[in-house]
Amino acid sequence: MNDIQMVDLKGQYQKIKDKVDKGIAEVINSATFINGPHVKSFQEDLEHYLGTKHLIPCGNGTDALQIAMMALGLKPGDEVITTTFTFVATAEVIALLGLVPVLVDVDQDTYNISIESMKAAITDKTKAIVPVHLYGQCSNMEEILNIANDKCLFVIEDTAQAIGADFTYTDGTVKKAGTMGIIGCTSFFPSKNLGCYGDGGAIYTDNDKLAEKIRMIVNHGMKVRYYHDEIGVNSRLDSIQAAILGVKLKELDGYNSARRLAADYYDKAFASCDKIITPVRASYSSHVFHQYTMRIVGADRDALQAFLSEHKIPAMIYYPVPLHQQKAYKDERYNDGDFPVSEMLSKEVISLPMHTELTEEQLQFITSKVLEFVNKI
Ligand SMILES: *Cc1c(COP(=O)(O)O)cnc(C)c1O
Repeated sequence: MNDIQMVDLKGQYQKIKDKVDKGIAEVINSATFINGPHVKSFQEDLEHYLGTKHLIPCGNGTDALQIAMMALGLKPGDEVITTTFTFVATAEVIALLGLVPVLVDVDQDTYNISIESMKAAITDKTKAIVPVHLYGQCSNMEEILNIANDKCLFVIEDTAQAIGADFTYTDGTVKKAGTMGIIGCTSFFPSKNLGCYGDGGAIYTDNDKLAEKIRMIVNHGMKVRYYHDEIGVNSRLDSIQAAILGVKLKELDGYNSARRLAADYYDKAFASCDKIITPVRASYSSHVFHQYTMRIVGADRDALQAFLSEHKIPAMIYYPVPLHQQKAYKDERYNDGDFPVSEMLSKEVISLPMHTELTEEQLQFITSKVLEFVNKI
């Protein structure tokens, strides 16, 4: 059995090596490193895949979120609601822009934004909501959009972990994660479901005016070279990354299916174990399992992680500390205990190896070791 990885990018590369190497060589041979034809063709392919009118590639997922908030004209003091149980990038850019991050709790089953907490946090100063589609499953976008439309709030989707997931509305309409709010933001960090071999990200919208503004902001606020109409940033996807992503986009549905199969294996193995709560799959969203994150109840989560590590099985805690308890984001507005679900999840969750190359032998080994540990207590 090969060593078990949390994410096996080397094994994945071996299967697409010829195409990837060819794409990289094309960029180098043509010296079209910035804004070359590979960027354009990847942009168009991903627009088509997602069913979005405009996709603007950028430097990384964090920039995507920042640029989205800049494009919407959010001003210092405006409140932006997001969850306390997420990767820091979401709240970071809110704070960086001088906006006020308003943290809310998550739902115990889906780990995504709690509709009740979100509603309770809306004030006269609220301008936007940033639902994070955590671990690969969409937040309840229909409810979020209903509330946001009612209160005239922008919805920016952080879909860094859920590219390719489908959301189904009650009328049967199906949309891709990131294409429901006014702007969707994603990341092509190597370990994401659609990852490049460096940094990359994208911003998408159906709104023509916003798209034009975003295109200017990513490029120093200019439309005509050396004429700067906006304060912008420098954030681009380079052509080598775009060439790699162009190859991998064709594999994305297959990759997401492979992840789902691994998740099915885990679900089945742990189904009758009352110390493990396997991920709940929402009726309104497909799950692309960026992570397979389960809860350990009635056993020591950290000891399980150490036990697995002894058997060379990597396992990670996403995330060990909710944002309201992080040094940089602590605030007199929040106390320990304010977000009971997030605080509980930070102590109970553990993410098992999840990637496109897991073999049945590896899955069998991982699940047997997890069960061995939790059953002996
Ligand atoms: C990875 C990630 C980001 C940031 O993406 P980068 O490309 O690393 O900047 C933002 N939000 C979430 C939820 C993420 O998982």
